[in-house]
Amino acid sequence: MDLIKNGWFSEVNDEWPGEAFSLEVEEILYTGKSKYQDILIFKSKHHGKVLVLDGVIQCTDRDEFSYQEMITFLPLNSHPCPKKVLVIGGGDGGVIREVSKHPAVESIVQCEIDEEVINVCKKHLPNMAKGYSSPKLTQYIGDGFEYMRQHENEFDVVITDSSDPVGPAEPLFKEPYYELLKKALKPDGLLCSQGSECMWLDLPLIKSVLEFSRRLFPVVSYGYTTIPTYPSGQIGFILCSKNRFTRFDNPVTVFTDEELEKMELRYYNVDVHKTAFTLPQFAKKVIFYF
Ligand code: SAM
Repeated sequence: MDLIKNGWFSEVNDEWPGEAFSLEVEEILYTGKSKYQDILIFKSKHHGKVLVLDGVIQCTDRDEFSYQEMITFLPLNSHPCPKKVLVIGGGDGGVIREVSKHPAVESIVQCEIDEEVINVCKKHLPNMAKGYSSPKLTQYIGDGFEYMRQHENEFDVVITDSSDPVGPAEPLFKEPYYELLKKALKPDGLLCSQGSECMWLDLPLIKSVLEFSRRLFPVVSYGYTTIPTYPSGQIGFILCSKNRFTRFDNPVTVFTDEELEKMELRYYNVDVHKTAFTLPQFAKKVIFYF
């Protein structure tokens, strides 16, 4: 389907039937088809540059910081010493940019399936791709699921920054992947996944991910952030810990205002962290009382 018509990109997709978010296009910067997906980068009139994979918006210059900061600091600040961090996916580089800011992090490993996404983001989205210049980073190109099979007892934190549960990311939303995550984490390790999508659109998916996560981990939470250019303006994160003392809504590391300024954080702070787990009643009923 041609997603750009009369100068507007519309995110028409079966995942959110009957609605479509639109952005006015100023210039198309890149279109191509990799081995895994259709890749589009355009300059929008009011949201800066936009990365689209298989017709779905992945990030825009205007609001990407909300997602990248929250998927990073909700888990990292819930772990007493997150020295070794694995990022699955994250092709735009934004999550690595954030992880590399954390003072306790000594090494970052990224496993991204699509080298083409990394290359076009380095060229067109330098504000996100600057994560790739971190000296702490080691990169692997390959499937995150296969990568997890080969690692045991290795990581303090694993962040899964994948695309939606269709195409190459589909297995990353299922129980076998979480079993592998558990094995790859150290005994007190924890994880955060964009494995939960949006509470307005995907409650059955959220419920299913939470159900199997609770069978595997002693501590499981659903947190979220607001972000105007994701479907329904909200996206959730599944957080699981192998350490039964983890309290995701009570961070063990608290950044001062000076530290937030120095780290150039624009969304995350300790209050946002604590309240990210406060749910409206319709979601709470499904997430806590199913
Ligand atoms: N923040 C974005 C969102 O939620 O829409 C996701 C950003 S990032 C661009 C998603 C990345 O996950 C893509 O670069 C994609 O290639 C990668 N990806 C998808 N499936 C994967 C898999 N099985 N293993 C590793 N990376 C994967």
